[in-house]
Amino acid sequence: MNGPKRRTDSFYRRVWTAFRPIFHLVCRAAYGVRVKRSVEFDEPVLVLSNHTTDMDFLVVAEHIKNHMYFVASEHVTAMGLFGKGFSMLFNPITVTKGSSKAGGVIDIMRRLRRGNSVLLFAEGRISHNGRSTYIAPATAKLAKSVKCRVVTFRTSGGFFIEPRWQNYLNRGRLFSSGIVHEYSAEELAAMTNEEVLAHIREDLYVDAYAEQETLKRPFKFRHGLRDITRYYDVCPRCHGLDCLAAQGEGMTVRCRGCGYELTMDECGFFHGEGGLVRSCADWESIQLAEYHSRFERGEFFSEEGVTLYGIGKGFKLTELGKGTLTSSADGLYLCGESFPFR
Ligand SMILES: [Zn+2]
Repeated sequence: MNGPKRRTDSFYRRVWTAFRPIFHLVCRAAYGVRVKRSVEFDEPVLVLSNHTTDMDFLVVAEHIKNHMYFVASEHVTAMGLFGKGFSMLFNPITVTKGSSKAGGVIDIMRRLRRGNSVLLFAEGRISHNGRSTYIAPATAKLAKSVKCRVVTFRTSGGFFIEPRWQNYLNRGRLFSSGIVHEYSAEELAAMTNEEVLAHIREDLYVDAYAEQETLKRPFKFRHGLRDITRYYDVCPRCHGLDCLAAQGEGMTVRCRGCGYELTMDECGFFHGEGGLVRSCADWESIQLAEYHSRFERGEFFSEEGVTLYGIGKGFKLTELGKGTLTSSADGLYLCGESFPFR
């Protein structure tokens, strides 16, 4: 196996201790979070957290003093120099997006059994609309089978610091962060998988816009709506596709088709004629309904000059071909391969 050389747990514990002051500073600067008395567990724990920004592990580390191994997606550890450094210093448990993650589960168990704590972001992806995303039933099975204390952790407000369509942080503070609940191995053993799953989902659930309705906290959106069309590409009024353009780095997007303008305020709420959209969740439901109806009408998407890559071990990309991406109600097609919708 290639990749950085693996060292002992005590090496990574020392690195963790050395990095804590830096974590502390970055956490305060990026999220406005400062915890006076962090918790320290005297036994290995599995921390299950929700996931709203790329660096929210810092917020967990601010609250929980124990050294923790992160479970990270392979695309993070494959991120050039950053990925290499991250792997070398923190030896994360890597999982491949879209895979069964069985290897990751075994690794989690092994490290817990060796007396370490592990941090897992249960959703595995960041929300596009401000509401928590899907947590797989396998997470509940894992929580029961590790036979150690399981701690649920929640941060909220992160959606406005790093909405899914951008890869930099806006300036602002989290609404809240902290441990929600602690479950002993005995408590978990006494519950069914479904009960455990319901607890995890409830503990980790956030709805950023619902909280913002009462809090009305301002954020400084660094590049305005510049990158929002990476995800939101349906005009809320004429339902035209791919016709929205951000006005420079400002807070307004405009439809080239019908001239509709949507402006976002400093709290992240949208304003436009007719009040069609107030939150990203409103916008997303219009957008998904539009996609569905296009597929039902047989109006399919196609795009020329699309490259298909295979992803191998260590996130190695291999070009498999180039061609026109086409679609049907059943899935996507490229270079003779088909990718059914599920
Ligand atoms: Zn329009």
